[in-house]
Amino acid sequence: MAFYKITYNGKHDFATVHNYGCTFRCPICSYRIMSGANGTPGLAYPKPERYLTNDEIKNALRSVSPSSVRFMGGEPTVAKALPEMLSFVKNELNAGTMLGHTNGSDLSLENLDAANVGLKAWDEDVHKFITGIEKEKIYGNFEKAAERGMRLAANLIYVPGLVDIDQVESVAEYLSSFNGIPFHIMGYIPVPGQPYRRPTSEEMKDVQRIAKKYVKDVKYSHLTPEQLLSMEMKDDRFDVEVIAGQGSPRMLTSAVKAWGPFSEIFTEALHDTALPERRVE
Ligand code: SF4
Repeated sequence: MAFYKITYNGKHDFATVHNYGCTFRCPICSYRIMSGANGTPGLAYPKPERYLTNDEIKNALRSVSPSSVRFMGGEPTVAKALPEMLSFVKNELNAGTMLGHTNGSDLSLENLDAANVGLKAWDEDVHKFITGIEKEKIYGNFEKAAERGMRLAANLIYVPGLVDIDQVESVAEYLSSFNGIPFHIMGYIPVPGQPYRRPTSEEMKDVQRIAKKYVKDVKYSHLTPEQLLSMEMKDDRFDVEVIAGQGSPRMLTSAVKAWGPFSEIFTEALHDTALPERRVE
């Protein structure tokens, strides 16, 4: 698909370029919280009215000259303009680049400094059920990116009855074989039409405690829909202005964006360790 909106956070000096579309169709995709049980997973709702041209994206980014640019969206690597934009940000803006969230479909892009990868499950059958593809492809991409020295963060949605504590533990154990990758566990927020429940507070504490046996930096989020919708009032990293693409899906600056690939956007807020620190000179 394509990029349709750009936001800028002046306080933290980063821009976010938003994509529409995804490579997966996860049944628990929280875009469905907005689009309903019959909505298409991976597609924000409502659909953008139009997409940005490459020149529009570049001009908007030039106008704020951010220290770093994050590419997000259902899955930002499906945007055809991404390679050109990564090159532009690195070589013309001299800024850091990051996949603010990604499902790990493609981590081999040039000019990409960091990625925040949403792993979906550890058990092969559950991974296939959620994503439609073999787990090896995503985990293999993750390993190759780590070998190349990419700055990585990982996250996983803890879904009682689907992605259970044993799977979270296995993912944490897997992450312990890498050097200092932060891990964010998201408590599932129920999606219309799906049979799974939100974990309890005690379960979230348990799952963090278990993951910490393997990974030093483990955070978790356990938000209600209402809390998520008010995140921008609580966290100034969500306090952004739209600098291109007005008229796209409503509430995108925080809520709808968060509802979609929420496993990743929480990590965006909480794991800035994955970002290039400042402008690359
Ligand atoms: S949960 Fe994420 S990876 Fe899965 S369909 Fe939704 S946006 Fe795509």
